Amino acid sequence: MFYKSTRSNEKARNTAAQVIKQGLADDGGLFVPESIPSLTAKELEEMCKDSYPVRAARILSKFLTDYTYEELLADCTAAYDEKSFVGGAAPLRNIHDNFECLELWHGPTAAFKDMALQIMPRLLSRALVKTGEERTALILVATSGDTGKAALEGYKDVDRVKIMVFYPVDGVSRVQKLQMSTQTGSNVNVCAIRGNFDDAQNGVKEIFADAEMAKALNDKGYFFSSANSINWGRLAPQIVYYVSAYCDLLNAGKCKMGDAFNVCVPTGNFGNIFAAYLAKLMGLPIAKLICASNSNNILTDFLKTGTYDRNRDFYLTMSPSMDILISSNLERLLYFTAGSEKTAAYMDALKKNGVYSVEDDVMAKIKENFIGYYADEKETAKTIRETYDRYGYLADTHTAVAISAANQYVAETGDALPIVIDSTASPYKFANDVYLAVAGEAAESELAALDALSARTNTEIPYPLAGLANRQVNFTKVVDKTEMSAAVLEYLG
Ligand SMILES: *Cc1c(COP(=O)(O)O)cnc(C)c1O
Repeated sequence: MFYKSTRSNEKARNTAAQVIKQGLADDGGLFVPESIPSLTAKELEEMCKDSYPVRAARILSKFLTDYTYEELLADCTAAYDEKSFVGGAAPLRNIHDNFECLELWHGPTAAFKDMALQIMPRLLSRALVKTGEERTALILVATSGDTGKAALEGYKDVDRVKIMVFYPVDGVSRVQKLQMSTQTGSNVNVCAIRGNFDDAQNGVKEIFADAEMAKALNDKGYFFSSANSINWGRLAPQIVYYVSAYCDLLNAGKCKMGDAFNVCVPTGNFGNIFAAYLAKLMGLPIAKLICASNSNNILTDFLKTGTYDRNRDFYLTMSPSMDILISSNLERLLYFTAGSEKTAAYMDALKKNGVYSVEDDVMAKIKENFIGYYADEKETAKTIRETYDRYGYLADTHTAVAISAANQYVAETGDALPIVIDSTASPYKFANDVYLAVAGEAAESELAALDALSARTNTEIPYPLAGLANRQVNFTKVVDKTEMSAAVLEYLG
């Protein structure tokens, strides 16, 4: 299996190891596989009996053909270990009737980014060997909170990789700051900057583009790499849990082999929902892909009108991982629907004018598979409260946006198929807002909200967040946004 850029019609010639190491294609496009491998009913039947790591190795081996099945199985077994994913890697929990929550947050940082970031570093480590790379990869991350911690946990103590995370000193929550500053591992570094998230991100981009920095790194035996969510190494592992969810539905007798189901995904960068679309292209019987957005509802508008227009207000919401106006992975859907030439033109228009429109026939194809809904802040809080009061299910702010979208979809269509709703974060990760929605009053402080939520709902704080305030702080460095390169060089010694 070879990979090519979404923006080029040249023949595919990159191996999976190359694209995982490189991240973005040379022309600025995203890497896509040249063809989609299929998934037969017989394989699905066999996978029903498999553990999650085996299901993962089987799916990944269809795409990463330059990795052996044994390598993938070893990596998946280590990544989705029961000690890191307490309660299972991707368990299905029934909320009510045909609403099934696919809980993707049982990993070491209590958010769904772990599903990809626990496995991708192992794939990168092998990619260095497979591509004959002799240097060590230095992963630089700018984070507004969740990605940084998940990347640190994923890359810690991984061979031939070091990671450094920058975050805005006053731009992350107290829980997020503690999660990062108490990080352990022999190859990790965390640095706060005086500035906002954009400053951190621009700083990292400048370092990536700086030829002198690249030379200084090379002299020390390093090269830059990124853990960005458009990397194929982050996308491929996300296909697995949709297949796994179907196996679990079959095992539970909730559907028969071949019966269709819908999925509903709280969406930001369009990575998670695009992985579901790939599962569908492989042959998994997914009927509709319901795309759920918060007040930053640019995707809802796109799926309705065919025009993607980022010239609009940006809102900070209680589901911050979905506060995004450029959903990068949408480019992959455009490629599979309209081809590389049109995709390159859309992306060019987006860059120049912040807007593009797709043709009616392209939109008709997209609408066969996708439908979009959104929930504003009031509706999100109301959904958290009602889901808890009626069904005893405690949803985080992102998951609540998806539950609201699923409710709207059923009310509008009357569709009675099972709906697999992605639950992307533990409610404790956003305890402040979840407690406020459930209790009707604010907790004393952000940290107090964790205990208050636990006492009120009689649920346990997940291990990644328990006792956070008592852990040893290992990183306290704060630098000016102009001093980021110096901080990188200092770290490497
Ligand atoms: C990243 C994230 C999302 C959005 O996922 P995309 O793949 O970017 O669409 C949703 N919820 C949570 C909790 C996240 O961390």
